[in-house]
Amino acid sequence: MTVSCTRCGAPAAAVMTFNYAEGAVWMDDVTDDIEDYGYLLCADHSDRMTPPHGWTLTDRRTVTRLFAPVQVA
Ligand SMILES: [Zn+2]
Repeated sequence: MTVSCTRCGAPAAAVMTFNYAEGAVWMDDVTDDIEDYGYLLCADHSDRMTPPHGWTLTDRRTVTRLFAPVQVA
């Protein structure tokens, strides 16, 4: 199943969830069961995402780099 960014329709790279009471935002990896919660974001939108003033953003994604560091042979 392919999930897409709620903003632009590109393939989703992250899912963002909120807790209004705590003023907290989390960024997680996209998994198979993310349909029930959160906002799906593509890599571009998740990178540009900034939490509301006074909120904390916790990025819990495992690091996957689009461009791996160049290996010098
Ligand atoms: Zn997007």
